[in-house]
Amino acid sequence: MADERDKSVVIIGGGAAGLSAANQLQQAGVDAVIVEGRSRLGGRIHTVDVDGSDAAWVDMGAAWIDDHKTNRVYHLIEPAGAGVEPTVPKLTNVRAYDERPSRWVGRVRAVLAMGKMGWRIHRLKKPTTKFAHLGERIDTMLGTKAGRFDEYLLKSVTELLDGGPVSETHQNAFSDGPWEYLRYKEKTSVMVVGGFRHVVDELSASLDQDRIFLDHGVVAVKCWPQFEGSYPVVVETANGATFVGTHVIVTVPIGVLKANAIAFEPPLPAEKQDVIERMGVGNVEKVALTFAAPFWREKPNKAMHFVSVPDPFEPRSVIIDVTDTAGAAPGAAANPCLVAICAADVAKATADRPHDAVESTLATLQQMFPDSYQPPVATAVSTWSADPFSQGVYSYPTPRTRPGDYTLLGESCHDSRVLFAGDSCTAEAYLSSVEGAIVSGERAAKAIIEGVD
Ligand SMILES: Cc1cc2nc3c(=O)[nH]c(=O)nc-3n(C[C@H](O)[C@H](O)[C@H](O)COP(=O)(O)OP(=O)(O)OC[C@H]3O[C@@H](n4cnc5c(N)ncnc54)[C@H](O)[C@@H]3O)c2cc1C
Repeated sequence: MADERDKSVVIIGGGAAGLSAANQLQQAGVDAVIVEGRSRLGGRIHTVDVDGSDAAWVDMGAAWIDDHKTNRVYHLIEPAGAGVEPTVPKLTNVRAYDERPSRWVGRVRAVLAMGKMGWRIHRLKKPTTKFAHLGERIDTMLGTKAGRFDEYLLKSVTELLDGGPVSETHQNAFSDGPWEYLRYKEKTSVMVVGGFRHVVDELSASLDQDRIFLDHGVVAVKCWPQFEGSYPVVVETANGATFVGTHVIVTVPIGVLKANAIAFEPPLPAEKQDVIERMGVGNVEKVALTFAAPFWREKPNKAMHFVSVPDPFEPRSVIIDVTDTAGAAPGAAANPCLVAICAADVAKATADRPHDAVESTLATLQQMFPDSYQPPVATAVSTWSADPFSQGVYSYPTPRTRPGDYTLLGESCHDSRVLFAGDSCTAEAYLSSVEGAIVSGERAAKAIIEGVD
């Protein structure tokens, strides 16, 4: 096993996985650089101050901490004084609207439909072999008598969770058993006051800033046997820079791997390439809006969330009231904020035409609140699907994804010189989550520290 001082690691990506790996390596005295394509750290954690007032902080990427009492992310930010709020739609603070025939769904009907949705999602936990894809399974479950609202709820919520269209998602995507990870029990689900930027601040606070290279998009990773010597791994960036090391940790998202944005020499093993090909890349986008007044609230201090069934029917979006977490810190003033979240094909269209997405969200609000509606003060739209450094949001299992695929994606290759981390490589934690990314980054760093080479 080589001495720690002989090791030198190039980490591609400064998101949660890359930052956690860097912390672990730095603490062990192993030299590490972070090579990051964007001009900021955080990756798919991105909190924006929508109207620039320091009172409208909205997460355009990761936003919820599930089961926070046992979640690493909460315990990372809690000592620094970050507050959390249980901003989750519940039966008592969600109202449902049907754009055909332009009226509110009765409260009893809405509560019943949401209860039924919970029960149906619970039924999806049982693995089956009967269906070609999740959409077929859901359609069979709904039967011919389910109403527009029931269909909308089940398809929208499942697409929001995975990001993939139900017609391209594995029938057991929500089942216990087939995949090598556990889902959160979701006994609690909280948002961070002031946003997930606190997580990035905590993860990057102790890192040597001179070892972080922003605006360096990696285009090639070379690790030929003839490079054997002090630094057998060479990482090249689009702006002509070269980084060398004994190991590289690749933390780029599944969308970037699928797009072959980084050329690996020698190529990645065929079985890893097959796994990447079999996984789906989901799309989720957010339209954030700030207002002078919370015209949608029935009581000034009670957050209200909305589901609106569009006409023509398509799983489109839910609208979440995030005012309670928009302040800079617990107790600080916050501006009224709403976030419309959409998934799958609608999210792709949102990233391609952000302006249209804002207009359509505002039209929905105007339709719901013809008397009290006010235009927004400021807006922001995420474009993860069109961003070269994410190319989608997170992975979902397609009908071709196999049990074991996520473990395989996380395995190292090229003589254990090229390691993988990130939220799709997290067999022992939770897929598609910041906590999973943190755990996977630490695992890759430990493998290098403990000398798997
Ligand atoms: C809309 C949305 C909502 C979400 N909601 C939640 C939630 O509520 N709770 C939760 O826990 N998780 C949520 N997630 C998922 C969570 O954000 C991710 O799982 C987590 O942030 C992934 O961290 P990572 O380090 O694996 O990847 P990333 O954060 O994507 O980091 C990878 C880094 O690699 C960089 N990169 C990419 N290509 C290159 C290249 N060629 N060269 C150099 N650098 C490159 C990227 O810029 C990025 O900084 C959400 C994500 C999105 C997009």
